[in-house]
Amino acid sequence: MATKIYIDQGHNPVNPNAGAEGNGYREQDITFEIGRRLAAILNANGFETRLSRPTEDTQLGNSVSSSLAARVGGANSWGADYFVSLHTNASVNPQASGTEVLVYSQSSPAYELARSVLEQLRLSTGLRSRGVVTRPGLYVLRKTAMPAILVEMGFITNPEDASLMVNSPELFARGIADGIIDFVRRSVPSFSPVQENAELLGELENNSGEVKDEEDQIYDADENFEAFIAENSGMGSLKLQAFRGEQAFPVSGVSARISRKIGDSYYIFFEGETDESGIIDGIELPAPPIENSTEYGRPNKAAIYILSAKKKGYDTIEREIEIYDKIKTIQPLRMTQRYGGIYGTSDNS
Ligand SMILES: [Zn+2]
Repeated sequence: MATKIYIDQGHNPVNPNAGAEGNGYREQDITFEIGRRLAAILNANGFETRLSRPTEDTQLGNSVSSSLAARVGGANSWGADYFVSLHTNASVNPQASGTEVLVYSQSSPAYELARSVLEQLRLSTGLRSRGVVTRPGLYVLRKTAMPAILVEMGFITNPEDASLMVNSPELFARGIADGIIDFVRRSVPSFSPVQENAELLGELENNSGEVKDEEDQIYDADENFEAFIAENSGMGSLKLQAFRGEQAFPVSGVSARISRKIGDSYYIFFEGETDESGIIDGIELPAPPIENSTEYGRPNKAAIYILSAKKKGYDTIEREIEIYDKIKTIQPLRMTQRYGGIYGTSDNS
């Protein structure tokens, strides 16, 4: 089932609850446009989205509080998985610049989502990261029934920030989308291949920054994937077992990812973490179907995937694996600690 993202484009077109102004721009226009683009990118990546302001003149509520309540109510009644509110920051100091993401508390899953969004925004826009800030008092963070973040994308009062948000809205939409996609892939281990976003967006961007052609791009990519599935109509399963040392102590919390290139795009087939016993079991992967003629039920054709396994303090494993129809493969992951040893802090990834 598609992950549902409620995108709240902060503020109303006019008062009550109109946004901040600076450098001749209005916050509500910036949040509307970036929200619209964010939804397009997420939809193209298999998410389901809903916008608080689907059209430019959507006006919510008849007071600030009822405007906020309408946004939260929209997300809650829809059953959104995540709530993302878009805003621009403001300061009396025109030099103040950068991005920050607000969350209800550090112990919410929203905190990790916020970090992911912040990092991808920094990479995409080049604006300074001001960090994740805990703001339990904010209505939209407090009243939402799902993990919620409020993104202060940049300062409307800063000439550079403001002009970047107005003239390059796609950079912000893309950064936020990448952050959401990365986070969701890490936290929802399941067999749901998703096209690697960076590749796709790279192609879109070559199109002079327009997202117009994304339907075509997705269609091509999906065709390759459909062909792959048709050729690999069988299903093999995989068990991963991570351990270290001569006595094979289990290693928990190893992040495993199984992917492969299809056409020009990378698809992720599985992401997850090893449990207390160092195990991930029951991973199902497409494989070429067993031929009738094959003796002893042993298929001679396999689907090749790339397995990568990483954990802080250990060397990363990356290898090709073969998956056969109707066969359960066990992949041992011998984890080698880096030179710092158990108490080492040599990891800087
Ligand atoms: Zn605002």
